[in-house]
Amino acid sequence: MKIVVLDGYTLNPGDLSWEGFEALGELTCYDRTAPDEIVGRIGDADAVITNKTPLTEETLKACPSIRYIGVLATGYNVVDVVAAASRGIPVTNIPTYGTTAVAQFAFALLMNICHRVQDHSNSVRDGRWTSCPDFSYWDYPLTELAGKTMGIIGFGRIGQATGRIARAFGMKVLAFDEYANRDLEREDLHYTDLDDLFGRSDVISLHCPLFESTQGIINRRSIEKMKDGVILLNTSRGPLIVEEDLAEALNCGKVRAAGLDVVSSEPIAEDNVLLGAKNCFITPHIAWAPLESRSRLMNIAVDNLASFQKGETVNRVN
Ligand code: NAD
Repeated sequence: MKIVVLDGYTLNPGDLSWEGFEALGELTCYDRTAPDEIVGRIGDADAVITNKTPLTEETLKACPSIRYIGVLATGYNVVDVVAAASRGIPVTNIPTYGTTAVAQFAFALLMNICHRVQDHSNSVRDGRWTSCPDFSYWDYPLTELAGKTMGIIGFGRIGQATGRIARAFGMKVLAFDEYANRDLEREDLHYTDLDDLFGRSDVISLHCPLFESTQGIINRRSIEKMKDGVILLNTSRGPLIVEEDLAEALNCGKVRAAGLDVVSSEPIAEDNVLLGAKNCFITPHIAWAPLESRSRLMNIAVDNLASFQKGETVNRVN
């Protein structure tokens, strides 16, 4: 079997091994593939592995040898899965590799907002503590989370993992999900509707997938319903937020701070309004990427292809 990886670099910049795939066939691995190189690089491969390189209906038409598509991510919107299904090509994804890593990262963003560790450390290195008349100083408001309320929109795997961490910090959790699983409710964890969540949360963390129904769920009108000084976290997908509306709310202080691992288009555009917004902390879509979590991703991706070869495709999405 000929296997081609179109954009392997972000999964494996050199600290993992492709040997799992090598054991399954003749592997060609590219770090990145530009749109005009896709068809040529697929050539007569049987299995195509992609992370963010799009596979359109036209590409599938131009590459009739494809028998399998493996996506190296949870979200598989880069592949025309309907067109693939109509050609009998299974598309698989990696549903669970990053649950704990993404939840941990939501808290990394929140800890940064609550304590500004790096900013304070930088000021110490710059001599501010040495010349301080007091034994202690702080340049930003410091915030204790215990007793505060975290609203979690999308209470699936990552949302629930984030909720567990929030409760360990002594926070109360309000969850909103299309499908409420009442068995999860506790004294400090309740499902509620979106408006109630907006009105009662001190911190709001987004963990729902990007669908038509969730696109722009954070906008001027929903922000108006939030508490003054709310903290917003997004480790899910950028288009969940109307960025102009959030920038305005940050600049006037309605939203105290935002921690964002994802933005509307990635890499971030030079003129993205959030780059200039007050108290907006943006990371380059790294929540998924600790070595442990990428290593799990690699193993699951290999298992997905191995299962296909045995005729029992797992993690199929189409
Ligand atoms: P999941 O499927 O386990 O959970 C998603 C939850 O959202 C489900 O409970 C679902 O019922 C709920 N939901 C669906 N539509 C909704 C709606 N309209 N309103 C409210 N809730 C709705 O998925 P997960 O593993 O928890 O992942 C969540 C998201 O995290 C993914 O879709 C992906 O966008 C994002 N993600 C980001 C990174 C990163 O590196 N930043 C990594 C992995 C996943």
